[in-house]
Amino acid sequence: MNDKSLSNLIKPLLNAWYPTISHGTGVYLYDVEGKKYLDGSSGAVTANVGHSVQEIIDKMNDQAKKVAFVYRSQFTSEPAESLAARLCELSNHHFQFVFFVNSGTEATETAMKMAIQHWQEKGKPQKIKVLSRWMSYHGITIGALSMSGHAGRRKRFVPLLEEYPSVSPPYCYRCPFEKTYPSCDLACANELERVIKRTGSEQIAAFITEPIIGAAGAAITPPDGYYERIREICDKYDVLWIVDEVMTGMGRTGKVFAYEHWKAKPDLLTLGKGLSAGYTPIAATVATKSVLAPVLNGSNLIMSGHTLSANPLSSAVALAVLDYIQNHSLIEAVESKGAYLYAKLKSLQQQVNIIGDIRGKGLLLGLELVQNLNSKASFPSSFELTSRVIQKAQDKGLLLYPSQAGEDGVEGDGIIISPPYTITSHEIDELVGLLTVTMVEIEKELGG
Ligand code: PLP
Repeated sequence: MNDKSLSNLIKPLLNAWYPTISHGTGVYLYDVEGKKYLDGSSGAVTANVGHSVQEIIDKMNDQAKKVAFVYRSQFTSEPAESLAARLCELSNHHFQFVFFVNSGTEATETAMKMAIQHWQEKGKPQKIKVLSRWMSYHGITIGALSMSGHAGRRKRFVPLLEEYPSVSPPYCYRCPFEKTYPSCDLACANELERVIKRTGSEQIAAFITEPIIGAAGAAITPPDGYYERIREICDKYDVLWIVDEVMTGMGRTGKVFAYEHWKAKPDLLTLGKGLSAGYTPIAATVATKSVLAPVLNGSNLIMSGHTLSANPLSSAVALAVLDYIQNHSLIEAVESKGAYLYAKLKSLQQQVNIIGDIRGKGLLLGLELVQNLNSKASFPSSFELTSRVIQKAQDKGLLLYPSQAGEDGVEGDGIIISPPYTITSHEIDELVGLLTVTMVEIEKELGG
C-alpha cells in the first residue's frame, strides 16, 4: 500500500520522504501504515477545527450536489455572497469589499495590486512599492516573495525580486536597536517613517505586516502601541496598510482577526489557511470602502482573479467552518486553551536549556531555540536544528511547524505550535509530553 515509488510521482523534488496519509479525525492523522500523529501545528497552521468534522463534510456534500463551480466572470453564487457578507460583518463593517482567491499568496498579491490600483485611480501611478519587514512571509510567487523577508525562500530568486522588506521587525527578544520596551519608544515602528522618507512617499503604495510574524519569526508579537504608531505613520505619508492575516485570521489568536488585539485598523486584510480550515482551497483579500472608492469611480475593475476564484464549493465550506467555530464558541476557547498550552510550555522551558523564548497569542505559539540562554546565541545553521526537531517529533507522532528566527533574524531556529482549536486539555498534555521527550533527546544529541 505505502509504495514509495508512487509517492515519488508527486514529490520528485523533495529531499525528504513523507508518509502517505490515510485519514484524519479531530486532532489526529493516521498514515497508511497505521501510525498516529497528533497534529500540533494544524498542518501549516490551517486545520483550525481539526480533521473530518462531520458537520462540515455534510455542508460540503450539500453544496457539491447543487453546484461546485461557476466562472466568476459569468456568475456569483449564494455561498460566495453570504461568505463575503459574513466577513464584512465580522469586521463590524470596517471592511466592505471581498475578493476571493485560492491561496494566501494570491491574496497578498491581490492586496498589492489593489493598493497600486487605488493610487493609479487617484492619479498617482508612481505609487507602486509595497514596503515590508525583513522578518516576514507573505507568499511564494515572485510578487508576494518580493514583499517577503524570508531569506530561505528568497535566496534562489533574489535577482528577480524587489527589495521591499527593508523595515526592522518588532523583535523584542533580540531588539534590532538593542533597546528595551517601553524606553525604546518603539524604535522599530519609527523606522518605518525613516524608510518612507528615504524611499520617497510618492513611490510607496502600501506597507504590509503580519500581525504576529509566523514562518519568518516563530510568532514574534509586537508590544502595545506598535501598530497604533504604524497606523499614524501610514496616515501621515499616504501609505495604505495591509495586514496579512493568512496565518492569524479566523480566530487563531483568540480574536476573529488578530489586528483586533491592538487599536489600529488596516486598510486591506488578507485571509487564507484557516478560512476553510484546509477543507478546500480558498483565500480572500478584503478592503475598506475608501480603498475601493477610487476604483469604483474609475475603471470599476480590480485587475486580478483566477479561474477558481469565489467558487461555490469552497465558499460553502468556509461558511460551514465559520458556523462550526461560532456554534461551538471556539474563538473563546482559543484564549483559555492557549493560556493552558503556554503555561505547560513554560514548564518545559525549565526542563531543557535550549528554549530561549516562548511567544505568541492564543493558539499561535512559537519557541525560539538557542545554544546559550544567556547570550541568546543561535545554533550554527549547519546543525539544521529546526529540521531535526520537526523530524524527531514526527517520528514520535507529533506534528510541528518550522520557522526561521534567530540571531541575525534569518538563520536561527524556531518552532510553531498551533493545534486545532478543538484540542482538549488531555490532548494538550499529550502534545507537550511528546514535545518534552523530543526536546530532551535533542538536547542530549547536542551534548547537553
Ligand atoms: N501570508 C502568510 C502570513 C503566510 O503564513 C502564508 C503561508 O504560510 C502565506 C501568506 C502564503 O499562503 P499560501 O501558502 O496559502 O500561498
